[in-house]
Amino acid sequence: MDPESLFGMALGITPPWYVKAAEFSLDRGRLDLYLDFQRGAGFHCPTCGAEGSKPYDTSKGTWRHLIFFQYETYLHARVPRVKCPRGCGVKQVQVAWARPDSGFSQLFEAYLMILLREMPVSKVAGLVREHNTRLWRVLHHYVGQARSKEDYTDVRQIGVDETSSRRGHRYITIFADTERSKVIFATAGEDAPVVAAFKRDFMLHQGQPEKVREVCCDMSPAFIAGFEEFFPAAQITFDKFHVTKLLNDAVDQVRREEQRDRPELKKTRYIWLKNPDKLKQHQLSILERLTHVNLKTARAYQIRLTFQDFWGVPPEAAEAFLRKWFFRATHSRLAPIRKAAWTIKQHWNGILRWFTSRINNGILEAINGLVQAAKARARGYRSNRNLIAMTYLIAGKLQMDLPT
Ligand SMILES: [Zn+2]
Repeated sequence: MDPESLFGMALGITPPWYVKAAEFSLDRGRLDLYLDFQRGAGFHCPTCGAEGSKPYDTSKGTWRHLIFFQYETYLHARVPRVKCPRGCGVKQVQVAWARPDSGFSQLFEAYLMILLREMPVSKVAGLVREHNTRLWRVLHHYVGQARSKEDYTDVRQIGVDETSSRRGHRYITIFADTERSKVIFATAGEDAPVVAAFKRDFMLHQGQPEKVREVCCDMSPAFIAGFEEFFPAAQITFDKFHVTKLLNDAVDQVRREEQRDRPELKKTRYIWLKNPDKLKQHQLSILERLTHVNLKTARAYQIRLTFQDFWGVPPEAAEAFLRKWFFRATHSRLAPIRKAAWTIKQHWNGILRWFTSRINNGILEAINGLVQAAKARARGYRSNRNLIAMTYLIAGKLQMDLPT
């Protein structure tokens, strides 16, 4: 068997295609394979499938292929347009080794996608010596194709969260199926219209809004209004993390106001944000000292710690606990704590709902971490569209249809 036939086998090409010539260039580290079709060969009509469509004219194409040994490999072929015997006209033949309009063979694209799942785009670009933009194009294609086949018929629980897409004030909003721990929608923007946009996309993927029974989000009025309007069958649970953050911020506010007169509070911010069991020994001794000198901050901290216990009480005792806590917080004479308590009062049912739904946005926090990593990895080449595609790739659990 001659080397050309061996390459033909390695490429998996079938008649009428064959490898006509193979050219090594040692100094360029490059292998060029020239494909051709047999003389007089007939093709299937790309439109109706009729056999025996004869070449009409040809155009040259080049595709980057997998690395053979250490050689960058390129495929070259003249691709025919054929004339259909049944009268479809003159049509471009689709070659088996590449997608239309791609400069990469399908196997090379599969290789790229495997790399892109594991490492930064810029690193893959460096490794294969291709420009970022070409890789993003491949990524968008396979992610888009996989997403178009997603089916959300059985989605019943949704968590939603925002993540900043770049320094400053741009956001993308991420919707996840919290039962399956996967991102099902990501979009630029942050306000009420994103819930409407989500619903449209959800229904395009066979999602049934009336089947969605539980939703978890932060306390932003836009989300609340959006879900009430577009998912009226869903009960809202306010995310634990965001409720806890509300109180942490209130404690910090008390501390910042108080430290003007009490310099010993400077540089203690992180101590008050954590629970005592999470503190290091020297932080713990600072905390103990400060809780013995009658500080407003220490009182605020105690109220925050008591609230933390709320999540651990038996469901039947939860509302009574919260009512008691609310009374104490609103009588604390600490303005930021009172304000936070009133915010909790306004979101009462959604906070208590957690004891029934047990839904939280933990999965979204994890996804958020991945997205932040993806952002860092996409440094220097970033758009919301790229970030969204990367989010689907790393957190969408997509069924990729990669050529093998
Ligand atoms: Zn035809």
